[in-house]
Parts: sequence; C-alpha cells; structure tokens
Amino acid sequence: MHIASVGVSKFCFLFSLALCGLLLLFIPALQPPARQVGLPQPRSQVRPARASPSQHAGAPAVSVHGGAIDSAAGLNRSSARQGGSIETEVSRNDNNSPKRVMDSKRGALPGGKGGGLSASRSRDLLQLKDIFIAVKTTRKYHKSRLELLIQTWVSQAKEQTYIFTDGEDKELRMRTGADIINTNCSAAHTRQALCCKMSVEYDKFIESQKKWFCHVDDDNYVILPSLLRLLSSYHHSQDVYLGRPSLDHPIEAAERVKSDGSVSVKFWFATGGAGFCISRGLALKMSPWASLGNFISTAEKIRLPDDCTIGYIIEALLEVALTHTHLFHSHLENLQKLPTDTVLEQVTLSYGGFENRRNVVSIVGGFSLAEDPTRFKTVHCLLYPDTDWCPKLKLHHKN
Ligand code: UDP
Ligand code: MN
Repeated sequence: MHIASVGVSKFCFLFSLALCGLLLLFIPALQPPARQVGLPQPRSQVRPARASPSQHAGAPAVSVHGGAIDSAAGLNRSSARQGGSIETEVSRNDNNSPKRVMDSKRGALPGGKGGGLSASRSRDLLQLKDIFIAVKTTRKYHKSRLELLIQTWVSQAKEQTYIFTDGEDKELRMRTGADIINTNCSAAHTRQALCCKMSVEYDKFIESQKKWFCHVDDDNYVILPSLLRLLSSYHHSQDVYLGRPSLDHPIEAAERVKSDGSVSVKFWFATGGAGFCISRGLALKMSPWASLGNFISTAEKIRLPDDCTIGYIIEALLEVALTHTHLFHSHLENLQKLPTDTVLEQVTLSYGGFENRRNVVSIVGGFSLAEDPTRFKTVHCLLYPDTDWCPKLKLHHKN
C-alpha cells in the first residue's frame, strides 16, 4: 500500500514534469504573430546577372545632417530628411535579396514561393512598360534640372515616365515624348504643395494599370536596367515598398488617423529624394488614405511631408514593412563614397544641391567634371554608348 502510493506520486511527479516540458515547447507557438509583418520574399526566377556589390556589408555608410524631427511642427520634406545622423545600414543577403522573412500572418507570400519556373511565370517577365515612373518637378526646374533627365534616362523610358509639375511649359511638352502632367498644385516647397503632387502621382498611377509605382525627384538619375532587375525579384501583387530610409531609426508621429493623437506610432519611410517603389497590390490597399485627395488629408492629420506620409500609410496603417535597399541614392549621402565599379548597378543616383556641388558619384567616362558636373551624362553614355551625343569610343587599330 505504502509502496504503491510512492509509485503513484512518483508517476504523478514525472508526468507533471513531462507536461511542463511540453508546454514550454509550445509557448513560442502560442505567442501572437509579431506586429512587424514579414518583408516580401523575392521571386526565385529572376536573379540579377551579377550580385550587386552595393549590397555587401561594405556598402557606404554616409552621413546626413543632424537634427530632430518635430512631427507636429509641419516641416517640409527637406527638414524631415535631415532628422537622422547616419544612413541606415540594413542587413541583407549578399545575393541582392532583402531579408527572407515569411509573413507570419498569411503564411507564405504570393509569388514568393520557390518551386521552379512555371510556364505562367516565364510569360510574366517584368518589362519596362510595366513600371510607372513619376518624376516630381516644379516650373523653375524645367530648364535647370528636367532638361538633363529628358536628355538622358527619360529618353530611354518615354512611355513609362510621367512628369508631375506645377506650371505650363508648351516647349517642354513638345520636346519630350514623356507625359507631362500639370498638377495645378502650388509651386511652393511646402508640405501641402508636395503632398498635392504626390496625391496626383498616386491617382495617375492607379489609373495607368501599370504594375509598379516608382517616384523620383528631378535630381535623380534612374538606371533603368537595375530598376527592372530589382523589381523583377518581386511580384506586383505582393505587398512591396522599396526604398532607402534617410534616418537610422523609425520616425515617430502622433497617431491621428486611427486614434485621437494621444498615442504615437513609429514607422520607417523611404526618403523621396532617393526615389522609392510600391507594388500595385500594395498601392491598391493604400487607397482609403491615398486616393482622390485623401492623401492630402492623411498628410494633414499627421502633419508630415509626402514621403513620410507614404511610409505612415504603408507601415503604420497597413502594417507592411519597408524593404530597405541601398540601391537608391539621394544627395543627403556622400555620393563620392559609392565605389566606382558599383555605380552602374545602382537603381537611382543624385547630385549635390547648392550646399555641396561636388557631391556627385565618382565615375570616369567621356565627359570632364566641368562638362558634366552632375555625372549623369557620363553615366548615361556608359549605359547607352550608342547615343548620338555620346563621345565615340576611340578604336585602337593595330595596323
Ligand atoms: N520641388 C517642388 N516644388 C518646389 C521645390 C522643389 O516640387 O517649390 C521638387 C523638386 O523639383 C524636387 C523635389 O521637390 O523634385 C525636391 O526638391 P530639392 O531637390 O530642391 O530639395 P531637397 O528636398 O532634395 O533638398
Ligand atoms: Mn534634391
């Protein structure tokens, strides 16, 4: 009897020990999914021909001007972009793919699964005509900035480039094959004016039926083959928001859309000055806060510039994470630090503003720094040497 009860209590003890162990094993599974949703998984079929060196750990860390963001103060984008101390170093694979994280809410992401190249996928290869490239400009920069873009990369993407400006320019309209949209937004460099332009960009993209929305400024060079290569790694029906943060930390703003502003939200945003891209699937989900003037009221509510508002809608409202990439560049970085042999593999480039005329990419080609201060012509001639105005390569004949 006594021996039997010892046996039972021993059994009970061992049983509860096993039960505890089992429970411990299950605890992670019982936890709710993390708030940060997974980054889109790149498609497996289209891999870049070369691994982009810019993706490696040695990618340049560049500094921007210091300062803090006051979300309540109604800053314009330039000042918001200057809120951080260093450009973000983000962890990436060496194979030009963003971190592979499965979406914990939905299991696997559409288009992201491996499993070989299916017939439908191979027919579905992304083409330049599938991309909507919005260039933001203003009347006073038509000559000094836009002209150069039209002469260079825009000439290679006339069908997919849409120029958003704020003043009529018949001459420009005649000379470019690209679409010129007069937004009728104010020509001021205020938050309201810039958000007004972004709002029109968004609506035009939705109307266009194209697969990808990419926004750039009029001081950006878009390296079209790289852009196509990058976007080909994803599917437009995935939730994809690609760009480069200008801060090394997420921005914080009072939540005035989902609540009364008493709580704050933290989110990343891609700096507009380096350009960013959004898949159609994600852009459609942004509609309640972005379409038909809603973008302006969303920006007004959170009192942030256009690029921050995009980040807010995507990260804070839709809970889709920004895929950080080093392939986009603004003049807030030290562009000289970009290794010369990686320049043509970047997606966007820029050049120094008034504050630093020498902040340009270091690349050698047919034009001197005096002839081509932005280096955009040099980059263009390296990419498209057959262009009629490019210096012809001297052929070395042995005889
Ligand atoms: N811009 C504008 N309206 C203005 C001033 C600038 O739409 O009154 C556009 C300009 O064409 C560019 C972008 O805003 O595409 C950023 O302007 P800029 O490069 O001068 O300033 P940043 O913010 O890069 O310092
Ligand atoms: Mn700029």
